Amino acid sequence: MFLSLFAPAGWILINAVQGVPPLGLILQSPGLMAYMLIGTMTAFAFFGWLLGREEERLSKLALLDELTGLANNRFFDQRMEECITSSRRNGSPLSLILVDMDRFKAINDNYGHQVGDMALKTAAGVLRSCIRASDVAARVGGEEFAVILPDTGTREAAKVAGRMLDGLRESKVVLMDGTNVNLSASIGLSGGILAEGESSFALFAEADKALYKAKQAGRDRLMTA
Ligand code: GH3
Ligand code: MG
Ligand code: MG
Repeated sequence: MFLSLFAPAGWILINAVQGVPPLGLILQSPGLMAYMLIGTMTAFAFFGWLLGREEERLSKLALLDELTGLANNRFFDQRMEECITSSRRNGSPLSLILVDMDRFKAINDNYGHQVGDMALKTAAGVLRSCIRASDVAARVGGEEFAVILPDTGTREAAKVAGRMLDGLRESKVVLMDGTNVNLSASIGLSGGILAEGESSFALFAEADKALYKAKQAGRDRLMTA
């Protein structure tokens, strides 16, 4: 608002230098003054709106994983702390699902990195389709994903994880020559009603341990901590 005064002020100054008194100029051409005031005000308002929109877009981008569009590590850590705090406050359960794609290196080695990237996007789509809007799915490593399920006990979360395993097993990346690249993953699950002082770090470590066991047991399966 204040900035819009600069256009009429500039005009008044130019005229003052040429010997036209400011008050006389304003009284002489009120329409011109209003035009300059309203014109600049509108321009600044529009510019401000564009700037706000861009800022919102950039701040969203800073929280998303570029390849899959899921949350990135930073956003995941932030949401995890928030979810733990609210779970503790409400005495409600919270579950954490860790997903690691099976033998993913072989997909890259056999079909190339680009196909590997397509497989990651496909996997992210499957995970997204299995969760609620209040859950948070993130890509936390190269071919590793994590999902926070607020207000969800491990039994309920195991059903979600089962759907993820089924969805991944049923999905595939189809190549130009008709080859089907099949996907599967191993999942570790931890959570429940949080113990006193149980941190996000501990929750993550438990799920990671369970995930390791799922790999050891032959992959394409769920293990609960
Ligand atoms: P495991 O079943 O034991 O998990 O085997 P794995 O091959 O999935 O595990 P490993 O940790 O040996 O290899 C992970 C592979 O994921 C290696 C790496 O090249 C690939 N990878 C990581 N990030 C990306 C990515 O952004 N794009 C692609 N295409 N590949 C990736
Ligand atoms: Mg891995
Ligand atoms: Mg893997």
